[in-house]
Amino acid sequence: MPLTRWLAEYAWLPERAEPTPDVLIEAEDGRITAVTPLVGAGTPPAGVEVLPDATRLPGLTLPGLANAHSHAFHRALRGRTHGGRGDFWSWRDLMYAVAARLDPDSYLALARAAYAEMALAGITCVGEFHYLHHGPDGRPYDDPNAMSAALVEAAAHAGIRLTLLDACYLTATVDGAPLAGPQRRFGDGDALRWAERVAAFQPENGHTRVGAAIHSVRAVPAEQLATVANLADRAGVPLHLHLSEQPAENDACRAVHGVTPTRLLAEHGVLGRHTTAVHATHPTSADVALLGESGTGVCLCPTTERDLADGIGPARRLAEAGSPLSLGSDSHAVVDLFEEARAVELDERLRTRRRGHFTAAELVTAATVTGHAALGWGDAGRLAVGDRADLVTVRLDSARTAGVPPVGAFFAATAADVTHVVVDGRTLVTDGRHLTVDVPTELRHAIAEVTS
Ligand SMILES: [Zn+2]
Repeated sequence: MPLTRWLAEYAWLPERAEPTPDVLIEAEDGRITAVTPLVGAGTPPAGVEVLPDATRLPGLTLPGLANAHSHAFHRALRGRTHGGRGDFWSWRDLMYAVAARLDPDSYLALARAAYAEMALAGITCVGEFHYLHHGPDGRPYDDPNAMSAALVEAAAHAGIRLTLLDACYLTATVDGAPLAGPQRRFGDGDALRWAERVAAFQPENGHTRVGAAIHSVRAVPAEQLATVANLADRAGVPLHLHLSEQPAENDACRAVHGVTPTRLLAEHGVLGRHTTAVHATHPTSADVALLGESGTGVCLCPTTERDLADGIGPARRLAEAGSPLSLGSDSHAVVDLFEEARAVELDERLRTRRRGHFTAAELVTAATVTGHAALGWGDAGRLAVGDRADLVTVRLDSARTAGVPPVGAFFAATAADVTHVVVDGRTLVTDGRHLTVDVPTELRHAIAEVTS
């Protein structure tokens, strides 16, 4: 790819408390080769005249946003689960009904549309927590990784990078009840067979990485946790898991193992710098210390946690204990990392009745560089030389953002304010439109296919 240049009206550079005006960003072969603030460099801010080949980016340009926790097929449930009172467990029954309908073709169509919606929202990399492995009766497809391959193809069509977090899912409950009904397609029998299948899947392209996941302590027996952790460790790939989303999971784990899920995971070597715990909504103080001391990351999914009435996780305490925070849209009730980011701060305000727990720069970090690192892309998420050339531009002249200072954009903008998205140096979205996918039409068709 030839040298490409962009002139950002404002850009959020690494380690800065607020955006920098008039920044020239240059990239070659998908990597950032120069980042030059023009103000004070002897060049007039009206540099567009002297830089005729630079694409002007009005508004605030951010590094690529990383959605660290996704279940693509949950997108089909948006707006369908609000009848009656319901809770996490009744929502889960509806989710299973959609899961039962999917095959590799419909999964590809739904994931492609869901990932393209993410691209429009400025998400340049997604972590797909994938457990829909086999046919509806649990029998593997001819290609046992056909569903994984569908996700890889979906991300390629949508134009975003993918970390496929292949989830080991073996049992229905903490005390080892077998998978039944729609859950049968999630299971590989045991962790060794799961590991064999995962090891056989090695997509060769520049936009995919394969990582590992433990669905939860409900789904992997304690004596098999280390098998999954060892595979991730040997391969040097990220390991993700759902943790303490519901108090019922903590209660069941204590009843069977006598310890909290976090303690159980610690005892089996699952925690560490390459591990990300998703949710961590209901940890004890000792759990928070275990997570932080081990450097285990925590992926918060506030819009899902709010949608499912899960509760509010102790985000500030986790961060202070040492856990890097990332963000995920999880069930896709909302696909908007601006909303996820500000919810981390706003939920703390509701709980503590105090303001000012996270700075804007900390929220940007969670949405960008920490999320990418949690997904195994240590070379993305910063507007810095050598990093992948991911650019996300947010307009500052919409009804929501007009008059807002650039530093306040994360407290005002929505995904609809994203106008321009570049992934690995390639333009994917201009003027708020995806260049190759008609996102609303594809979403409508793909969702009708699995819900009608
Ligand atoms: Zn999840």
